[in-house]
Amino acid sequence: MCIRRDSGMTPPRLHEASPLGAAPNAPSAHLMNLPSAASAAPQPPVRLRFDWVNVSFLAFAHVCGVLAVLYLALVHFSWWTLGFALVWGVFCGLSITGGYHRLFAHGAYRASLPLRLFYLMFGAASVQNSALKWASDHRAHHAHTDSDRDPYDIRRGFFWAHIGWVMHKVPGGGVPLVDDLKQDPAVLFQHRYYLPLAFLFGALLPMAIGMCWGDPIGTLLVAGFLRLCVQWHATFCINSLTHMFGRQPYTTRVSARDSAWVALLTFGEGYHNFHHRFQADYRNGVRWFHYDPTKWWIWLMARTGLARGLRRVPADRIEQARRETTAAFALTQDSSR
Ligand SMILES: [Zn+2]
Ligand SMILES: [Zn+2]
Repeated sequence: MCIRRDSGMTPPRLHEASPLGAAPNAPSAHLMNLPSAASAAPQPPVRLRFDWVNVSFLAFAHVCGVLAVLYLALVHFSWWTLGFALVWGVFCGLSITGGYHRLFAHGAYRASLPLRLFYLMFGAASVQNSALKWASDHRAHHAHTDSDRDPYDIRRGFFWAHIGWVMHKVPGGGVPLVDDLKQDPAVLFQHRYYLPLAFLFGALLPMAIGMCWGDPIGTLLVAGFLRLCVQWHATFCINSLTHMFGRQPYTTRVSARDSAWVALLTFGEGYHNFHHRFQADYRNGVRWFHYDPTKWWIWLMARTGLARGLRRVPADRIEQARRETTAAFALTQDSSR
């Protein structure tokens, strides 16, 4: 699917924050008694039109996802097909969380060419746009969270943040904020040939592999479309659920929240409050017991030499952020009495 949209936003000043997130020692909006961005009323979208290509493919994929369940239940159940779909789903999932998100969008670590190619291949199979466009949208989300320039602005409601933004065209063009990624020929190649690569790794290759155990149609439906739908909604939950439900231990300046439940669905991406405060840390679940398979994967890749330069926020800065947020919350409680 294209799932392409052009935001048409003017490039924000990405470096107004520290490389690891919020500006150090910056007082919170509550402490300064300023209105947070989240409290401003959203402006109505300008001339938004449906992106019928995306809408059509979303509908088609979901119908095929339902057919996949019926196929498994009523036509032909195969452990091989189911097991392959799970493995393919894990590869695709890690390519979005560890690749598109923590590597390409945030530069939380550096990856060797084989690992980048792995991410770009299975990232294309995840049909969430090219890494370049995905990172461009995501950097805009972090730079303009809870404002009209946030592509998945939660103030427009759950549906918009979850999937509505994918279904609409936004005026403008280009892929701003990602000049660094444009220096990587592998990223540019994937951006240029995104659609054929998505078709190849998302549908054709699973189908061809499924022929090995005589179930190409089942593999296409289950590892192709059912896996795709599950993966989409898991990713979309980060933009919707973790901006609505959960705890805010590290910052109340944005709507992002920590949700262990969403982390279970998303290879650890549910610790979104920590992530918004310290966006270039390779961990989202910062405590050792937090369920964050993506950080374990990145750590494993570093042990094998395929990744290096893992960025971690010092523990005292994390603790300071937690204390600041607790103090700011207590202040708002006092002033509301
Ligand atoms: Zn967010
Ligand atoms: Zn992020």
